[in-house]
Amino acid sequence: MFAYPGQEEMLRDIEREVAYTRHEIGRDAFAPRVMAAMAAVPREEFVPESGRHRAFANGPLPIGHGQTISQPYIVALMTDLLAPRRQDSVLEIGTGSGYQAAVLAQLVRQVHSVEIIAALATAAGQRLGRLGYDNVSVRHADGYHGWPEHAPYDGIIVTAAAPRVPPPLVEQLKPGARLVIPVGLPGSVQELQVVEKHADGAIATRNILLVAFVPLTRAPAGSVQG
Ligand code: SAH
Repeated sequence: MFAYPGQEEMLRDIEREVAYTRHEIGRDAFAPRVMAAMAAVPREEFVPESGRHRAFANGPLPIGHGQTISQPYIVALMTDLLAPRRQDSVLEIGTGSGYQAAVLAQLVRQVHSVEIIAALATAAGQRLGRLGYDNVSVRHADGYHGWPEHAPYDGIIVTAAAPRVPPPLVEQLKPGARLVIPVGLPGSVQELQVVEKHADGAIATRNILLVAFVPLTRAPAGSVQG
């Protein structure tokens, strides 16, 4: 069942951390299809050569340009909170290595992912293509503005911390859809929040867990094109 050495242990570590945090996250287990996606994506392909021996450890790893690939437990948690369905079109802000996008690609029809660092966007796009994730499109842009051309989305995941929820992302949610985002100031811990847009357009926010993400940076207007 496990094509990659270490992957089985990674899944056990995720399950253990779910057990430690079950009161905060309000669940005893993640959806089986989320865990199946975690089992299916070869994490070692998304980390630099120097970090391969730690590819399945339950921690973040550097991916260059001062950025990190998130801890597997956090990737699984954010994916579970998004509650993705097979027919969904979802948006990710912060492509990084492309790992979270690949996990989502196992679960939904289409993933759109936006990355502000050109070199990471290019590398992730090529990596995802090489690994056969042909339902992921990557754009180099400032994700604060979302990706309006493909909106509205069934779900949005932001994998960098913002001081406040960017209003364009809430606008790009379908009614009934949700946004999973770490909210807080850089250099401190942030609240992982789930922001739901109800059918009548009302917005409800829940705090889930304290997390530590790299900051959502902002491009000067006009400096980054898609
Ligand atoms: N999801 C990634 C890890 C994210 S690290 C993975 O699975 O590997 C956060 C990423 O967000 C970094 O690559 C960073 O460059 C990117 N980022 C930061 N600010 C951004 C912005 N305004 N728009 C798009 N991407 C941004």
